[in-house]
Amino acid sequence: MGKSISLDIAALILLVILLVSCIRRKMTSGPPNRIFLCTMLIAITAASFDIVAVVLDNSQNASDSALYTAHVGYLITHFLSAPLHLLFVIGLTDTWHKLRKNPGLQVLLILPLGIMMAAFVVNAANGMIFSVEGGYTKGPWFPLMYVLTMLYIIFDIVYIVQYRILFSKGKILAISAVIPIGLVSMLVQMAVPSALVEMFGGAVSLLIISIGIQRPEDYVDSFTLLMKYSAYANHMKRTFYNDKHVNIIMLNIGNFHTIQSLMGFDPGTRVLKSVAEKIREVNRRMQGYADLYYLDNGRFRMVFFGKNIDKAEPIADVLMKELKQKTNLNGIDVDLTPFIVLARCPEEITDFKMLMTFGSDFHEKNHYTGQVMKAGELYDSNQLDIQNNIDTIIDRALESKSFQVYYQPIYSIAEGRFISAEALIRLFDSEHGFISPETLITAAERNGAIHKIGEFVFEQVCQFIASEEFKRLGLDYIEVNLSVAQCMNGDLPETLFSIMRQYQVPSDKINLEITETAAAFAQRVMAENLEKLTQAGISFSLDDYGTGYSNMKRVIQMPLKIIKLDKSFVDEQNNPKMWIFLKNTVKMLKDMNMEIVVEGVETQEMLDAFSDLKCDFIQGYFFSKPIPKKEFVTFITKANGISRY
Ligand code: C2E
Ligand code: MG
Ligand code: MG
Repeated sequence: MGKSISLDIAALILLVILLVSCIRRKMTSGPPNRIFLCTMLIAITAASFDIVAVVLDNSQNASDSALYTAHVGYLITHFLSAPLHLLFVIGLTDTWHKLRKNPGLQVLLILPLGIMMAAFVVNAANGMIFSVEGGYTKGPWFPLMYVLTMLYIIFDIVYIVQYRILFSKGKILAISAVIPIGLVSMLVQMAVPSALVEMFGGAVSLLIISIGIQRPEDYVDSFTLLMKYSAYANHMKRTFYNDKHVNIIMLNIGNFHTIQSLMGFDPGTRVLKSVAEKIREVNRRMQGYADLYYLDNGRFRMVFFGKNIDKAEPIADVLMKELKQKTNLNGIDVDLTPFIVLARCPEEITDFKMLMTFGSDFHEKNHYTGQVMKAGELYDSNQLDIQNNIDTIIDRALESKSFQVYYQPIYSIAEGRFISAEALIRLFDSEHGFISPETLITAAERNGAIHKIGEFVFEQVCQFIASEEFKRLGLDYIEVNLSVAQCMNGDLPETLFSIMRQYQVPSDKINLEITETAAAFAQRVMAENLEKLTQAGISFSLDDYGTGYSNMKRVIQMPLKIIKLDKSFVDEQNNPKMWIFLKNTVKMLKDMNMEIVVEGVETQEMLDAFSDLKCDFIQGYFFSKPIPKKEFVTFITKANGISRY
């Protein structure tokens, strides 16, 4: 029966389309892409040889040498697809260095290919694989090709299983699809030699890989034409997993947001494009051979590895110098604030999560110096570790009830005694030690734990207020902080009322602190909450006054009893202009019948200055830091001259 070439032609068409689409989608850089391109070229060659071979087989007057060339060409190129697939898998895991260090493994991987090639050489003389005398016929060694292909398939499986952690499920399916498809088409081909399904099976496998793994939208950013966040994340995961050394230039454009919001989307993208072009150009000029990435929000990365690792430092310096120069957009000179950090991994940044956490906001946490900074000098690994694990830390603290409430005394200038205190949360984690309330509260707001934490603090405070020892202290009220998320929760008043009822706490003993940020979100729910709580007799303070968006209209409209001047404001009292401003602010607030707490008073001089301004209350280290309840009771007892019995 004559063989049909229609499936081979279909395979050929499919492969050519795939090849063109990969080139058009710029899937050409990096070892896995190149191996994949090579696999497609080899498969196209194999399909072409097969078509020629079949045509010659079917024609009666083909010469033996032409027939032999077509068949041997097909069998060799077809066989090559198995080791190429294995190389592709190794490329995806980025474990070349391990392979290079292991000659045993190298031999194991090359041996089947060597045997097969030797067999083809010998075949020219003995025709043991196939011969073309009197038409194409398979020889007794023909199954050797299947056996050796099977070996590569086994290597494939071992590799994929060993490195499965580096791939998502979808990707594992896509890379592994070739195995069942290859096996089935091999069996069909053996059972029905005229079917010629192998090439088509191979083409379909490559298509699946291309769809499942080589998706450019996963990898290439369409504006900058640099590789994307996901490609960077994959590269870095592999790097840390394989314990490879890389140097990374982390470039965050500090004022990218401002540029985009002031000048618009298009100029913003033009800035990104020009920075990307600069990075490409410097990388080319200085032969850095780095992998280049654009993540998002003005964040770029250059990853140096292998023998180019030491080029990171000089390139970082040149890049900084050139990016500091003005960029011209629409005739307007734009000054960028390029923050560049050089990170040696894994020496300075030891794991993937730390790298990502550190990279997300170092430009917000450090001052702009115009110099390249070193990761090792910038970050506190314990702090990063805390940020990475804060969700677990919070869960652990909630479970083991290890949150504590400290109290910081508040002094009344008019009465010459301590009249209240602010309740402040404290957490000492068994693993990480002291966790700053800012880190804690920010994370708790994000993961929703803030509501439980807030209830805990409020209950502790109510329990304290209800106690006999508190009553003896003669304090007027306790201030409790409310976070933004709490303020916006419609259940807040009911939750607080029920705790107060439980401990029979009168509402005038509670003062709730809200921040300007919360006030800025002042939406309906927040306004309703304030209204209900105020109606019930609870008073409010505006915390950290002077740090946020001091919107006077909002301040005036809210039912506030106390304004707390922020420490950062207070710290500038030696600045004459600031002092004029402070003096007038205090006067204005007093005219509105607000009471004023000065936060962060640390010296006698500060105390005197604010007393002269006729502020009402003073809170700060000058009197006391926040202290545990027991110490606080002792402190107030002594300071207010209260007899214990
Ligand atoms: P805050 O409400 O403005 O609290 C005042 C902060 O200033 C406290 O920091 C306090 O220790 C600190 N402080 C007071 N006097 C001085 C001083 O003289 N010098 C200096 N350098 N610092 C002083 P802390 O306890 O670290 O709390 C930080 C922030 O965390 C608080 O700022 C508040 O916004 C938040 N926070 C703390 N506890 C809670 C809580 O239970 N719930 C909520 N939602 N937020 C809380
Ligand atoms: Mg406060
Ligand atoms: Mg404050």
